[in-house]
Amino acid sequence: MKERVLSGMQPSGYLHLGNFAGALKNWVRLQDIYECFYCIVDWHALTSNYAAPAPIADYKQDMLLNFIAAGLDPNKCTIFLQSEVKQHAELHLLLSMITPLGWLERVPTYKEKQTEIKDKDLNTYGFLGYPVLQAADILVYRARHIPVGVDQIPHLELTREIARRFEFLYGQGILVEPEGLLTESPKVVGLDGRKMSKSYDNAIYLSDTPEIIEKKIKTMMTDPARKRKTDTGDPELSPVFALHKIFSSSEEIGRVAAACKTAEIGCIDCKAILIKNVLKVLQPLWKRREGLAKSPSVLKDILNEGNKRAATEAEKTMEIIRKAMKLSKITKAEIDINHAFMTLKELLIKHYHDEGKVKAEAAAEAEKTMGIIRKAMKIS
Ligand code: ADP
Repeated sequence: MKERVLSGMQPSGYLHLGNFAGALKNWVRLQDIYECFYCIVDWHALTSNYAAPAPIADYKQDMLLNFIAAGLDPNKCTIFLQSEVKQHAELHLLLSMITPLGWLERVPTYKEKQTEIKDKDLNTYGFLGYPVLQAADILVYRARHIPVGVDQIPHLELTREIARRFEFLYGQGILVEPEGLLTESPKVVGLDGRKMSKSYDNAIYLSDTPEIIEKKIKTMMTDPARKRKTDTGDPELSPVFALHKIFSSSEEIGRVAAACKTAEIGCIDCKAILIKNVLKVLQPLWKRREGLAKSPSVLKDILNEGNKRAATEAEKTMEIIRKAMKLSKITKAEIDINHAFMTLKELLIKHYHDEGKVKAEAAAEAEKTMGIIRKAMKIS
């Protein structure tokens, strides 16, 4: 039996080359080694984009399309949408009962992002609770390995602390304490030399056309000391070279570096080689995307199937958790044991029957409201 891996990505923008080379390629590799669950975490996207949720639907679609086009295989891994597996919300709520506020306020990205992101009010309960939702995402699958970058380690540590606290309070052996799977993944720089990110307006998107990609790379900064073609350069100072290191062959990387240092080639030539290589890497992905675009029901089916599989696994964990937290209804056997000492047995069984009916009616009413709320927040 393979060990379980869980990873998620927020649909808070279109996927770019950084997501592709830094995360997605690794996911494709892991699906052959582990039992992988890959989640489009759309509720997470709402924690910072709650005021403008409209584009999230498009981002989700783009993400799913690119997941499959990049090589995720629904026969090897489970691809699903967080908001379709309600157990994540239930566990998030339960874990929020036991998570001390101080733990959340100490998470480095909490303060960092609040200072960094000026155009959004992140002084919300949901944003503070982001790592609790992440803990729920992981613990509900009892996943053993979580692919992480160094910056994600504090979040994972918090998940481990929450798991330990849960087991201290409700019993051992219920949850699996996850471990970080530190994988070598390249940091892809953007057009301006900073980390490529949708938030910096410096990204090359997987959905960009070849013409746009060519234009973007042509406008990239290079070694500022190389003003004329005859000036020698230092490739290490050029973000174009940083991208060569990821998308070009080692032979070409060596050649470009040497030719830059001796001014044998200019920045325009160097960029032309990079353009050719980036397009070559993306060509197979685009081809698969074209095929998928012709049959949109395929993507829908993949997601539906993944949602079902994920919900089945999540529900298994929740059944145990509900019992551990004394939430789940008493089973027939438990009723019998209880009632063996009481003459009120008949009455109580009737009570449980009625209770079941009342619960079903209440759930139907609540579902009507949730349907409207999901539509309003663009989740459905
Ligand atoms: P963004 O910075 O554009 O908001 P996310 O934070 O949504 O990207 O990242 C999604 C995944 O892609 C994460 O696993 C992250 O580590 C990876 N990733 C994002 N940007 C880069 C990058 N420039 N280089 C390498 N990996 C990246």
